[in-house]
Amino acid sequence: MGVPQFNFKPLSDSKVVVLTGAGISQESGIKTFRDSNGLWEEHAIEDVASPEGFARNPDLVYRFYRARRQQLQEDSIAPNQAHKALAIFERKFKGEFLLVTQNIDDLHLRAGSKNLLPMHGELNQMRCQASEEIFSVVGDLNASTICSCCGERGNLRPHIVWFGEMPLYLTEIFQALRKCDYFFSIGTSGQVHPAASFVAEVPYDAVRIELNMEQTPVSSMFNHGIYGRAGEIVPAIFDHALV
Ligand code: NAD
Repeated sequence: MGVPQFNFKPLSDSKVVVLTGAGISQESGIKTFRDSNGLWEEHAIEDVASPEGFARNPDLVYRFYRARRQQLQEDSIAPNQAHKALAIFERKFKGEFLLVTQNIDDLHLRAGSKNLLPMHGELNQMRCQASEEIFSVVGDLNASTICSCCGERGNLRPHIVWFGEMPLYLTEIFQALRKCDYFFSIGTSGQVHPAASFVAEVPYDAVRIELNMEQTPVSSMFNHGIYGRAGEIVPAIFDHALV
């Protein structure tokens, strides 16, 4: 069965906002959030994605994110056709384009996306809890890593937004949402807020398109839904958007 047709031909003065989630990286070999019974890579989400989990067992949390970072270095992990289609579209498009991702992997960056806001942080970055300064992770990150800004051990943590923490770039994201003409939500379950409510922020006459493997709790808020593998449906829509 072919991909359902959706005539996406934005004008050069259109404003396009795309939100992506873990589903867009699934075909690159990175597990989504709720694979295997609500566990994230075999761990309870509250153990590895909350400030309380980090306070309880920092070693586990450092180990968890180290493993996620190491996975990104594996030869088999690379941007897929969906990441590439968005980067190519951005390069050619003459209007305004913003890509907001909930993903903490670096696959959009590696695909060449430029105007990109990683609202849940980045695996390859760490943050000093004293100064809030952000650094690239070079080598290992653990409880004994000495912070180069404060000289202390244990102040550095993964630069990841955990449950109960405020996502990054919300001011820029809401500004873009409130004036966009097209809003795409790709590979996200519609269960993690505030990203799940972005669709409610766009103008009433904006075109709202959900691209996902399956329907989500917020599907009814979109005026188009295209369901299938991101690696197939994203290029099918974006590769032909400008021709
Ligand atoms: P989620 O795991 O809750 O939902 C993923 C959605 O993608 C599901 O609706 C699923 O049906 C869909 N999906 C799965 N495979 C797909 C495919 N091949 N093509 C299209 N759709 C597909 O993810 P979420 O809504 O992004 O929330 C997860 C949270 O977990 C985010 O905050 C994110 O930071 C974090 N996370 C990130 C990564 C990553 O960086 N790649 C991976 C796991 C979790």
